[in-house]
Amino acid sequence: MGSANADLVVTVERRPAGGETVLGGDTVVMPGGKGANTAVAAGRIGASVSLLGAVGSDGYGSLLRDSLSSSGVDTSLLISSSRPTGIAYITVTPDGENSIVVSPGANSAVAPSDVDAVDWSSVRVLACSLEVPLETVAHAVSAAAAAGVRPVLNLSPVADLPAETLAVLDPLVVNEHEAAQLAPSFPALLDLGPKSVVVTLGARGAAVVTPAGVTEVAAPSVEVVDTTGAGDAFAGALSARLAAGDALEEAASYAVRVAALSVAKAGAQPSYPTAADLD
Ligand code: ATP
Repeated sequence: MGSANADLVVTVERRPAGGETVLGGDTVVMPGGKGANTAVAAGRIGASVSLLGAVGSDGYGSLLRDSLSSSGVDTSLLISSSRPTGIAYITVTPDGENSIVVSPGANSAVAPSDVDAVDWSSVRVLACSLEVPLETVAHAVSAAAAAGVRPVLNLSPVADLPAETLAVLDPLVVNEHEAAQLAPSFPALLDLGPKSVVVTLGARGAAVVTPAGVTEVAAPSVEVVDTTGAGDAFAGALSARLAAGDALEEAASYAVRVAALSVAKAGAQPSYPTAADLD
């Protein structure tokens, strides 16, 4: 469950300061959004995955539906909203770093009542991200946990979650900056309540944090082209491998390889590898 956005991407030599205008390259329109990215990453590596979210009845909505379907993602839970499809305005500098403004649009319309339409009986993992309303996320995590489904939440950007939502996460997924905002050390992240935490560490891979300790999983070395959606690739692959029955460290080591390949290509969804690419 999560957002579906059209990514409007433009390369710039440097970002404009306030009141300044800079010229960029040609705009490239790509399917994105944390929820759709996560679902596509999981679908590309062969998971059976459905996206609960919303798009508008516009061209960007069609772009997203097509991208999801062609990656094997079921769209029967994707709502057609009267609001416009969410848009992310992304600037990428030559070092591969990105800056993003998100206009949520239809993503704001995903409601707790939409979660109630989910039949959890065939679901193993709920992968959530935060560009849909927080109360809907909290409701989905509770509903999943009550149905015996493993909830995975990518807490990006950091937000205040109810204690009962944090308590059932297995794992909570954050990047290094988010981890530093939440706790003074990796082990201290468990004090927030989740059963486990995975911290993504960019080029250094990821750290798996459980009550048994902290284990680092190294990322393969790649030439960085565009890091957009790397965290979502990681969360999607991690969730897919957990659904397939992997232990957390095993799933994290698969996910760092998926995410590393994704930064070696432009865009979010278009950069995600298949299982064959990983081989
Ligand atoms: P983004 O916001 O760009 O989507 P993020 O900040 O959420 O990413 P990161 O920790 O930067 O998350 O990256 C997620 C994962 O992507 C890492 O765990 C790693 O597997 C992979 N990754 C990112 N950058 C690199 C890199 N330079 N080399 C190899 N792998 C990388």
